[in-house]
Amino acid sequence: MVAAAPAESQVALADLPFEPPPGAVAAVRVIASITHTIGGLQVDDRARVLREDGSAIEALWAAGVDAGGVATGGYASGLAQALVLGLVAAEDAART
Ligand SMILES: Cc1cc2nc3c(=O)[nH]c(=O)nc-3n(C[C@H](O)[C@H](O)[C@H](O)COP(=O)(O)OP(=O)(O)OC[C@H]3O[C@@H](n4cnc5c(N)ncnc54)[C@H](O)[C@@H]3O)c2cc1C
Repeated sequence: MVAAAPAESQVALADLPFEPPPGAVAAVRVIASITHTIGGLQVDDRARVLREDGSAIEALWAAGVDAGGVATGGYASGLAQALVLGLVAAEDAART
């Protein structure tokens, strides 16, 4: 698939880091992909996986795309969800 930006949002050819050939237009080849899933296991602030009744399951932590309930207000960084919750989970696991 090739996507072309609408005329009003096209990069000015003068802004390109190279000399475009005369009459050049810009196009980008795109491939559909999943960057991040929104759903997942419910976790608490220690990244512990919770049961439906809200109690924590012993010795089970989740981070990254496996953890849900984080991006409820809209997509929040998937990398941050992996890195921040991953560290929180590791620290909590080391303490217990
Ligand atoms: C194209 C693209 C662009 C993105 N851009 C951004 C961005 O700009 N900013 C941002 O914040 N997020 C971005 N994301 C989202 C972010 O990359 C993910 O949300 C994040 O990497 C999820 O981390 P994770 O550790 O949960 O999962 P992953 O990064 O998917 O890590 C899971 C790992 O487990 C391994 N694995 C799977 N099954 C097994 C198995 N059975 N045994 C052993 N290992 C296994 C996989 O090989 C993989 O290495 C992007 C994602 C994509 C695809």
